[in-house]
Amino acid sequence: MTETTRRAVVLGASMAGLLTARVLAEFYPQVLVVDRDKVTGVRTARRGAPHTVHAHGLHARGQLNLEELFPGFLQELRDAGVPTGDLGEMRWYFNGHRLLPAHTGLVSITAPRPVLEHHVRSRVAALSNVKILEEYTILGLTTSSDRSRVTGARVQQRAGNASPEVLDADLVVDTTGRGSRTPAWLEELGYERPREDRVKVGLAYTTRHYRTRPEWFDGVQSINPVASPAHPRGAFFGQVGPSLCILSLTGILGDHPPTDPAGFLEFARSLPIPDIYEAVRDAEALDDAVTFRFQASVRRHYEDLDRFPDRLLVLGDAVCSFNPVYGQGMSVASIEAIALRRHLRRGGAPRPRAFFEDVARAIDTPWDISAGGDLDFPGVDGQRTLKVRAGNAYMARLQYAASQDASITNGFMRVAGLIDTPASLMRPAMMAKVLRHAVRRPRPGLSWQGPA
Ligand SMILES: Cc1cc2nc3c(=O)[nH]c(=O)nc-3n(C[C@H](O)[C@H](O)[C@H](O)COP(=O)(O)OP(=O)(O)OC[C@H]3O[C@@H](n4cnc5c(N)ncnc54)[C@H](O)[C@@H]3O)c2cc1C
Repeated sequence: MTETTRRAVVLGASMAGLLTARVLAEFYPQVLVVDRDKVTGVRTARRGAPHTVHAHGLHARGQLNLEELFPGFLQELRDAGVPTGDLGEMRWYFNGHRLLPAHTGLVSITAPRPVLEHHVRSRVAALSNVKILEEYTILGLTTSSDRSRVTGARVQQRAGNASPEVLDADLVVDTTGRGSRTPAWLEELGYERPREDRVKVGLAYTTRHYRTRPEWFDGVQSINPVASPAHPRGAFFGQVGPSLCILSLTGILGDHPPTDPAGFLEFARSLPIPDIYEAVRDAEALDDAVTFRFQASVRRHYEDLDRFPDRLLVLGDAVCSFNPVYGQGMSVASIEAIALRRHLRRGGAPRPRAFFEDVARAIDTPWDISAGGDLDFPGVDGQRTLKVRAGNAYMARLQYAASQDASITNGFMRVAGLIDTPASLMRPAMMAKVLRHAVRRPRPGLSWQGPA
């Protein structure tokens, strides 16, 4: 670092912001993390992150990266009673078929998302050079007079009649999520906005928590009938703490799970497997159902911009927010944070263009998986290239084959967990196994309709 490097400011103290702060703390004498919410000690969903009440799994790549950034983190979570398990040993259903369980050696963490964030935040807050400014609204950026360089952020304390203030910074990182104002700020400063890809899925999650009964999970961490074109209604039903479980129902293209108890239960009854409805039909619910609507996956191509101000970076959902059913967002944020560390190790502030090129590389594969997968649903608009159509046709066969052969579940989970690339599923030995089972694949059937 140069002598002028003194302070980095991170906008947003959710998962991407915290991981960014952890990395910046290795390089900057002072790191300020700003958020509009009260965050210290908070273990429940908060106003600035309402999506966090819904089921969140931290998949393999994210788990490994968090362990790298916070040694001993997995054991800390286990000691706190957070359920963890093998990604391949959960009960996964695709097109109504259960994947054969496989021991993958990959860990999945199904903490309530605010609890996971609380553990990450506690580790970050314990770093002596990190300070979290909570209950501050982020108003905008400050720049050099020629607007070529960002010099800080304008913020305002929410309590009382506080006046706006400026946090001078040698680097500002925007991690304010999908509502990030960087595209608008760029325009105001005379730069172009980034090009956006959007895949409109019209998704909603509706979630309730229940007191767990021991017989429901039978030793597995969660039961997940994942939405597919034949069964567009899906669910994540998982243990999230001692005797606490979460049920997030998912519906796309406007077919949203209701919040009233009867409607919620009826939606659960229409899932392709009976297990979840049978479990919760007379269970003790611990809260009312709440809904989160997710209109579209959005990817912003900062790497394409010819001009971009120095000393400003963007990371996490602010760059790309994926369809959440694929469980990728937190893992991708962790990959980007580790990429930021690589850039900082080269000395000086990262060059935005080079950083965004690395971010784009980190996003490419998960985006192909989720945005490509969404195009398998006939009602989702988008260009179905030959690659997308062939990929989806193959994946449907592979998922069926995984219901017959655990080694295929293993390969599939390594890709879903962002450990291997989808190319690993196209190796000749894997393709031969998939195609052998595909011959016997039944036509995707109707949903389980429940008792008459
Ligand atoms: C329903 C749902 C389920 C999901 N499930 C999974 C999953 O299973 N696995 C997974 O890996 N990912 C999942 N995700 C994605 C995951 O939540 C995000 O990718 C991850 O939290 C990273 O988000 P972020 O930190 O970039 O932004 P966010 O979590 O959106 O945080 C942005 C932060 O910025 C603050 N902020 C914003 N604007 C301002 C302002 N003007 N002033 C002050 N503060 C501001 C907010 O208060 C907030 O704290 C899911 C997402 C949704 C919507």
